[in-house]
Amino acid sequence: MNPNEPPIISTKDAMRSHVLRLRREGRSVGVVPTMGALHAGHLSLVEASRRSCDATVVTIFVNPTQFGPGEDYQKYPRTLQRDLGLLADLAVDTVFAPSADEMYGIGYGTSIDVGQISRTLEGSHRPTHFQGVATVVLKLFQIIPADRAFFGRKDFQQCLVIKTLVRDLDVPIEVCICPTVREADGLAMSSRNVYLTPPQRREALALSQCLFHGEKMVASGERDAGKVLAAMKTVLDAHLSVRIDYLVIADGETLAPMEQVTPRAIALIAARVGDTRLIDNHPLMPLVFNPPTESGLRYLA
Ligand code: AMP
Repeated sequence: MNPNEPPIISTKDAMRSHVLRLRREGRSVGVVPTMGALHAGHLSLVEASRRSCDATVVTIFVNPTQFGPGEDYQKYPRTLQRDLGLLADLAVDTVFAPSADEMYGIGYGTSIDVGQISRTLEGSHRPTHFQGVATVVLKLFQIIPADRAFFGRKDFQQCLVIKTLVRDLDVPIEVCICPTVREADGLAMSSRNVYLTPPQRREALALSQCLFHGEKMVASGERDAGKVLAAMKTVLDAHLSVRIDYLVIADGETLAPMEQVTPRAIALIAARVGDTRLIDNHPLMPLVFNPPTESGLRYLA
């Protein structure tokens, strides 16, 4: 065991008392919610928290309520010991790793529905997903009353869901959004990439390639979203095992489909490669939301 591994707290009471103590001592606290199976994307959020907060709490919890029936809750990778090793030397204050019973006690019945922004795209393919996400994130914010929370742009719609939750329910926390970390060949890092066989891993590259192709077309002057989408689809057509759930060009604030590409345009994709469902997104022009934070989110470089 690496002596620099962060200590684990597994009960809600102990976690909350600890964070309240840190704040009484005048230390700012950042929280990085994760489901574990950590990779460089997660670690970039930890680094961002470390840069702007005195103490960082990483949560590791595979949240059952955000998985639908038939999804991968049971087989989702759980690698706590390895995760602690990756967090060693990153000056993480504590890891909060509760059990499902600790988080959802007997008689648990509340669920948060953030409304319209959660219904489209991921919401239409995974109808209960964002209720599970919003509920667990609000619970984590109550258990860990941090100054800032760090999320990845990789899960773009999730960022908008959390922004809506924080705004609508007056949660006193600043939501900071970090860029997507990619493998050298462009594949967005994801805990689910471990499910891919080597041939599927090659096919999965089509997702990022199609997004980058769209960006390139826009950079060369094309603004008709229909034409950009059609060209992006041709990239996917060459990859027969990639089955698209959706591919859209949408407003990065509302997720409404766009006809013309503007600096608010995000391309978002979800697709299955074999049994593995992957998502990715990319702004088609440099993001304009920050600064000023029109969107209520703080997009970090
Ligand atoms: P997860 O463990 O998949 O629930 O992700 C935990 C956090 O890490 C979420 O805020 C994700 O958006 C973020 N994240 C996941 N993959 C990446 C990535 N490739 N780059 C940046 N952030 C990521």
